[in-house]
Amino acid sequence: MTNTKPMPVIAIHGGAGTLSRSHISPEQEAAYHAALDAILRAGQLLLADGGSALDAVSLAVEMLEDCPLFNAGHGAVFTRDETHELDAAVMDGANLRAGAVAGLSRVRHPVRAARAVMERSEHVFLVGAGAENFARECGLELVSPDYFSTEARREQLRLAQGTNTTVLDHDGAAAMVFKAPAAPLDETRKFGTVGAVALDVHGNLAAATSTGGMTNKRPGRVGDAPLIGAGTYADNRTAAVSCTGTGEMFIRVVAAYDVCARMAYGGQSLQEAVHQLVNESLPAISGQGGLIAVDAKGNLSLSFNSEGMYRGHARVGEEPHTAIFR
Ligand code: ASP
Repeated sequence: MTNTKPMPVIAIHGGAGTLSRSHISPEQEAAYHAALDAILRAGQLLLADGGSALDAVSLAVEMLEDCPLFNAGHGAVFTRDETHELDAAVMDGANLRAGAVAGLSRVRHPVRAARAVMERSEHVFLVGAGAENFARECGLELVSPDYFSTEARREQLRLAQGTNTTVLDHDGAAAMVFKAPAAPLDETRKFGTVGAVALDVHGNLAAATSTGGMTNKRPGRVGDAPLIGAGTYADNRTAAVSCTGTGEMFIRVVAAYDVCARMAYGGQSLQEAVHQLVNESLPAISGQGGLIAVDAKGNLSLSFNSEGMYRGHARVGEEPHTAIFR
């Protein structure tokens, strides 16, 4: 038994999806890499200073929520009623404490609301007006709902409504003939969610996920992201996991917990567990997307069964690495 401390690491994702068919300039692609890189560096710095995995994933997801390139917080997609309904979750692998929120439209950083539920209430999951009232009581920053809106997302909604298709209908994705805005992954067929997982110097794991859901979704619909075990899970004994993809399928296979359960009950490695979920269990029910995961030894898996996933990781003491395509 050695006493060596684990080397802290953080990984993030900004959603998975299909390649864009519109022309992407090197500058546009570089903007995504730069955003991921800056966020990884902030998380890396926090971990290098001895900060907790919980603080690192919270910070990274907050920054992703502020970045309009990604579907969470500012830049979130619209529901079919031209509103925003934001979902988020956070989990601490050291003690299995967890917090989640769904259906928010006024809290600037949904992940902070999730963390407040975990740390300042006796509950795990709050939704809608009750969740927002709680966030207000906790002193979190509230914004007007149009703070989350961007012109690019409004255009996506118009396109989705024009073809009378909900972008949730990924099984029929081939029928979609949307004009994609200039982004490396096709914004109309991308599963937009952001997430982070981390291992800190104390050996603790944490995961956080935040999303606007799917363009043109039915109001009231909640995906996997805020469901503990489906889109988000962390347990020091196995792994921290944050998912992105067709939420309904991720819920049905209890995706994030499935990775941890395969490791705990089946003795699988992180890679084996993730591989089976992403390449076997999810495709078996037409589940598309991916996940990021880290185990207590610092092994990482950033895996997806779609054409690309905005992603990156940074180990303390090493240069961050970012990627979009396979
Ligand atoms: N999984 C998310 C949801 O279903 C969407 C996504 O990852 O883009 O809400």
